[in-house]
Amino acid sequence: MRTNVVRMSTASVPADPSGRIPASPAPSASSASSAGTVTDRLVEANNRYAADFADPGMDARPVLKVAVVACMDARLDLHDALGLELGDCHTIRNAGGVVTDDVIRSLTISQRALGTRSVVLIHHTGCGLLSLTEDFRHELEDEVGQRPAWAVEAFRDVDQDVRQSMQRVRTSPFLLHRDDVRGFVFDVKTGLLREIDPA
Ligand SMILES: [Zn+2]
Repeated sequence: MRTNVVRMSTASVPADPSGRIPASPAPSASSASSAGTVTDRLVEANNRYAADFADPGMDARPVLKVAVVACMDARLDLHDALGLELGDCHTIRNAGGVVTDDVIRSLTISQRALGTRSVVLIHHTGCGLLSLTEDFRHELEDEVGQRPAWAVEAFRDVDQDVRQSMQRVRTSPFLLHRDDVRGFVFDVKTGLLREIDPA
């Protein structure tokens, strides 16, 4: 089965068939906020947010001195799931929560410039990367005529991938603090974290 690899668009047509975000504005009492693109809707929400926002008076250093690396999955609300407040931590997210060179870049800045000392890695059940393979990359190359410089970082065993991610952090020469690195799998059905033994 060929994977659709070019469905990357910022158009207003919803990917979600539930129609939570109407493609064409339906007449309603709140039609002003249901019209327009998804981004328009986010900007409106920001205006309401800013109306009640008070300067928290914080600097950029995370209060808990922790950086959380997690998958970008929409079902994972890091702040709620971990009891985090504004200003507590750095959150570094990508597809899979994989420790790539760019994650190491962010962690290096997090530790060396902004004082974090602990690293928490979070993968999750039902991750999209479990159903992909490196074929994704080859199909992409066939389609666009250019090979991406990055690896897909697909995985079959989420526990093993957490271990690999922990290992990448622990062996990075750029990081100052590599002793407090713990990895977890978040269950999207129960909301619980399960810790992965690094061994
Ligand atoms: Zn995921």
